Order: sequence, then structure tokens, then C-alpha cells
Amino acid sequence: MYHNIGTPEAEWVRTPENFRKDLQALYDRGYLPISLTDYVYGNIDTPVGKSPYVLTFDDGRQNNFRYLEDGSIDPDCAVGIIMEFSKKYEDFNANGSFFVNGTGRFGPKEEVQKKFDFLVENGMEVGNHTINHPNMKTLDASGVQREIGGQKNYLEESFTKPYNINTLALPFGSRPEKHLQDYLEKGTYEDKEYKNIAILNVGWDRNPSPYHTDFDPLGIHRVRASETNVDDVGIYDWMEILEKNPERRFVSDGAENIVTVPSSLKEKVAVPEGKELLAY
Ligand SMILES: [Zn+2]
Repeated sequence: MYHNIGTPEAEWVRTPENFRKDLQALYDRGYLPISLTDYVYGNIDTPVGKSPYVLTFDDGRQNNFRYLEDGSIDPDCAVGIIMEFSKKYEDFNANGSFFVNGTGRFGPKEEVQKKFDFLVENGMEVGNHTINHPNMKTLDASGVQREIGGQKNYLEESFTKPYNINTLALPFGSRPEKHLQDYLEKGTYEDKEYKNIAILNVGWDRNPSPYHTDFDPLGIHRVRASETNVDDVGIYDWMEILEKNPERRFVSDGAENIVTVPSSLKEKVAVPEGKELLAY
């Protein structure tokens, strides 16, 4: 989970240099990005022996995606760094999800469509981060639906080709009162329905394999990609934990439609439709 890419480094700001360092550290340890949608549906085509991860960015700041005056992508914005990395390493796909709130959408209004189109054409995704970035706890049913449905409708207008905004990152990780929580997944705003396939928390933990019985796409945990105030559960802590406990790490079998697990873990697996279980 990233927010700003800029200087100076702070709790919610990663410098371009440190973001490059993160991508390299992940790559060197055998981690490769996949899209959030592929993760949710368990379509993992990560090469055999490698581990998938999902890059996410909240708040749609201009430092996530910026054009320079000559029209080229700023090599120090998030998208510039991801694209540069994908050119350097053939097995690194430019996957990542950008959760956009309000009308900001990476800065200048007139560039929005070009930017959204670019993201989708290059394997990245745009997600919902609500209109006003509210604390959801304070909202009633119509408020929750306006914040999610309104932002979805608004974002979808900015793509050249039809695009379905169906993933949501919760502002502050906050959820509405219990009886309203279904509206995070489904609802209606201005006669248009929305349905989210993924709801992302702010968080301290990695999320289980999509084939695990505990997997809940409507409450996805995230690891903070930072080294500031991460309470020993930041990105580098998790890399270390998984290095020391390799049995806890998801390692791809390289076969997108086969779920391979040790026999001892067979009971913990829920195989998605259209996929096959291979226990060994
Ligand atoms: Zn936010």
C-alpha cells in the first residue's frame, strides 16, 4: 500500500528512490506483481517458483502519475517508475491499482482521460476511493451509496473505452455501522447500481492466498510500503518474516488453472470454479 511518491520521505510519502528500492528488493527476492482483479479471481499466472503481490496507491495524487512539459511521463512519478522497471525486466508486468478519490485524479483535469486510458492499456487498474474521502462510520445508507456509487459513475466517465470501477479502498480503512456494511459491496446511486469485487483495508498484514478458505475479497489486508512508523509490520518486515518462514509464503506452481498444495493443507483450500486441485 502506497500513497504519495515524492520528497521528503514521510509516513505516507515514499521517495522515488525508495520506491525503486522496494521494487528491486521484491524482485530480487522472487516477488512479481499481478493485478488486483487477477488476485481476487485467483488467476495467478506468476512464473513457477515466484510469488505474486499487488501494488496499490491511494488518493490519486499527481505524484502518482505526472506528465512533463514535453509530454513524456515524469520518470520519478509512480507510473514512470513502474514503466521503467517493466522495461528493465521482461517478467515484471506493469500491474498496479490506483484508488482515486474526488475530482483530483492525478492533477490537471484535461489530462485525466489520457492518463486513465494509459493505465488500462498498460495493465494497470483504477479503483474507487470515494468522493469525499469520509470516515464511513459517520455516514447513513444514502451517504455510503453516494460516496461509492457517485465516485464510480464519475470515474467511469473519464475512460475512452467502457471501464467498470469495481474495487474499493476504504478511506482510513473505516467501515460504516454494521447494518450498513453491505452497501460497501453493493448499492445504487442515481439509478445506477454498483458492485465491488474487492474492498481494501488500510493495514498491517498481508492477505491470504485467494485459494485459502479464509480468503475474503471484501476485507483485504494490506502491507504498508514504508519504513516509517510501521511497527515492525512494514514491507521489509514482511519480506524478512517470509524469508525466515518460507512455508508461509505463496509460491506459484506456474499453472494458472491448477491449485497446488501440500496434502496437509488440503482442507484449507477452496478451489475456485474452473480450477483444479493438485495435492501432493
Ligand atoms: Zn486515502
